[in-house]
Amino acid sequence: MVDFEFTEDQKIFREAVREFLSKHLAPIWDKIDEEHRIPTDLIYRMGEQGFFGIPVPEEYGGQGGDFVSAAIAVEEVAYHDPSVAVAVYTLLNNAWPFILSLYGTDEAKQTILPLVGNGRGFFGIASTEPHGGSDVAGTRTRAERRGDKYVVNGEKIFISGVREVMEQLELGGWYLITRTGTPESRHKGISGFAFIGNNRGVKPEGLEYSILNTIGRHGISTGMLTFKDVEIPANMLVGQENRGFYYAMEGFTLARILVAAANIGAARWGLEQAIEWARNRRMYAEEKPISSFQGVSFPIAEAAMELEAARLLVYEAAWMADRIYIKKEPGLKPKDLNFYSASAKLKAVQTSFKVLSTAMMVFGANSYVKETNIARSFIGALSYYVGAEGAQNIMKYIIAREIIGREYVK
Ligand SMILES: Cc1cc2nc3c(=O)[nH]c(=O)nc-3n(C[C@H](O)[C@H](O)[C@H](O)COP(=O)(O)OP(=O)(O)OC[C@H]3O[C@@H](n4cnc5c(N)ncnc54)[C@H](O)[C@@H]3O)c2cc1C
Repeated sequence: MVDFEFTEDQKIFREAVREFLSKHLAPIWDKIDEEHRIPTDLIYRMGEQGFFGIPVPEEYGGQGGDFVSAAIAVEEVAYHDPSVAVAVYTLLNNAWPFILSLYGTDEAKQTILPLVGNGRGFFGIASTEPHGGSDVAGTRTRAERRGDKYVVNGEKIFISGVREVMEQLELGGWYLITRTGTPESRHKGISGFAFIGNNRGVKPEGLEYSILNTIGRHGISTGMLTFKDVEIPANMLVGQENRGFYYAMEGFTLARILVAAANIGAARWGLEQAIEWARNRRMYAEEKPISSFQGVSFPIAEAAMELEAARLLVYEAAWMADRIYIKKEPGLKPKDLNFYSASAKLKAVQTSFKVLSTAMMVFGANSYVKETNIARSFIGALSYYVGAEGAQNIMKYIIAREIIGREYVK
């Protein structure tokens, strides 16, 4: 049966997060972007409100919720901060802690997840390397086993949350993707670690970091991590050695649903701004609103249609994730999510690009000043158009492989 309704619990959750965010995030989102920092007390309060670790089981300090609720939270956060910085923080802090809850050791889970759940900690993803982010199987950062430790050497770039982890929060880290097999082993020689960059001021020796000078979504930092003989305890290995590529792919598949939710949240904000402006901007002899011109109203109509289509894809993907991971319906496997997740990300990112560029066109020159904030949102969402959490071409590749067949799409 097709049912387009959220459950009562999900509706109540959406109302509660809206109320919180309209009071505590909406009034300061542009200040967050200007000051390049999410206030720590806001992060803590979001933790207390249950924004992080939503699908993580309660026994690890998560909310014991589902992916539809996580998508609701991320969509609302992006609507109330359409630069998407706080949404990025929120979505990473839901998807990657969930992967850790599935495959991490008890020590890793107990150390990291309760602090994620209460807002004191962050757990993101450190995959991308300078030679190219799309080729995860080509990872060059090496981890070598020495006794009860692994020693890591290499470099990661474009990593979200570097300053927050290293300088702001009590504890933080990333699902760190490294090579443990031979250089030729490709995806069969990759391992993932629950890497802690900072634990109450204690930072691993040999770890260096820097922050990149990005063009937007300034609220969350994007940085580099350099590993020079950094030791990671062996009990921080996630799952089995040389299986890390597969856990990472599951993580990306789940994270992309929430990325898509962030994009529809920002696009919803942009569409509302465009509608308001088109109604109120009046000129010519009859003082007509610009919405009376089809050159203005039709792009808005198209944007609204695209947004609804993207929204349906996003929640369909989140609903599929719940059937697979939360309800554990027999016969469904993680790979059954690939098509839905990649489609949701592809469509939602195309849509936010279209809706926010339409908003810029409707605002005219007024979009080109910071105060109207349209450009802030456009540039923030653009991070996903250019690559974050998987390039758009990679989404097409995943969809093509799923529908045509892996053996036909190499
Ligand atoms: C703001 C921001 C935050 C980010 N945060 C993180 C983070 O927290 N952690 C993390 O690990 N990474 C992060 N990333 C990096 C992101 O994952 C990469 O941008 C992404 O994987 C693409 O890699 P790339 O940018 O190196 O592009 P490349 O892989 O170099 O690709 C460049 C272009 O080539 C195309 N291309 C590549 N391969 C193919 C192919 N096989 N077929 C067709 N076209 C192809 C791509 O579509 C793209 O258009 C972030 C990026 C940004 C912009």
